[in-house]
Amino acid sequence: MGTESLVKNGFDSSVRNKEKPSQSQQKPLPHTYLDNRVTNPQRENKRTRSQRARERLQTKEHLVGLAVGLGEVELADKLDRCHSRLAVLTCGRHIARIIPNFTCEFRLCPDCGRRRSRKLQKKYLPMMRGFMLRHKVTPVHLVLTQTHRTETRKQSAKRIKDSFTKLQRRGFWKQYFNGGTWSLEFTKDKNGLHHTHLHIIGFRRKFFDIELLRDEWLAVTGDSYVLHLKPIQDIATGLREVVKYVSKPLDIRRFGAEDLKEFLGLKNMRMFGTFGEFRDFCKDFEPSDSGAAVSELESLSRDLVEGCACPHPQCDEPLFELRMSAKELPQFYEQVEMSKNVLKSP
Ligand SMILES: [Zn+2]
Ligand SMILES: [Zn+2]
Repeated sequence: MGTESLVKNGFDSSVRNKEKPSQSQQKPLPHTYLDNRVTNPQRENKRTRSQRARERLQTKEHLVGLAVGLGEVELADKLDRCHSRLAVLTCGRHIARIIPNFTCEFRLCPDCGRRRSRKLQKKYLPMMRGFMLRHKVTPVHLVLTQTHRTETRKQSAKRIKDSFTKLQRRGFWKQYFNGGTWSLEFTKDKNGLHHTHLHIIGFRRKFFDIELLRDEWLAVTGDSYVLHLKPIQDIATGLREVVKYVSKPLDIRRFGAEDLKEFLGLKNMRMFGTFGEFRDFCKDFEPSDSGAAVSELESLSRDLVEGCACPHPQCDEPLFELRMSAKELPQFYEQVEMSKNVLKSP
């Protein structure tokens, strides 16, 4: 069996049951969290918009509570005001645009995170398409992990980023990859140890044996060889998967006051970046008309006002504006979802 068939089967999950002779005496714990999240990336997308809107509200309430507890009154107030009043442009069956009263821009705010991840997708998708065309490379989603140690979040992030920098300097990496993007994801295990992962969209020049990459990762980290690799079939979907971690770097519902405190100390830490030849490509990139068509709906929606025709396909109904509070939004989504179901049924 060649590497190709192994890789084509999706994630290489064989590592869990495999004992690999290594310099490390310690066998890493099974990455149940990683496996769940990575092998079921669709689960999140299956939840309805109303469910996700409800979850954002809960996350925010939780964050506000933690901020108040820490005496971060200003932060709590900003979070509370952010997206609290909304102007929704709708035809009654579709939502064309949502304009918030205020955005807090706090890194853990789920509403601002969504905006940020949409912005990143809009910015990088045309560049990725252009880069793939020019260099004839195929994108893969690579997840790099490291062993858990007693360390701060900051130390954990620095350790994995430093390892990745070392990896990029190696001949193997240069031979098979020519750049991409990275984003950080933070989680914690039951014992309170940090798991930090790097989610990478790597542009691969040609196939290689995953075991070789594992050996390379072990060589730079000294004790970690757990990684996952999945070919990306559609770059728009792949990018959306990866920038998700920018909008949601960790599971905030399991977040305590100490976590928030620590996170506030990370103010300047970068969570997303480009590397290698792709990084240089981005600097010189000028979007062409064809490449700019990221999401026609989204670019259209910027100029929409009351009275315009609904931009959704096969809908010409005029848009009107509804004012509502954030708490009313999930229910409005529900109404919209229900009206769609009614239309779909024969
Ligand atoms: Zn419509
Ligand atoms: Zn916000």
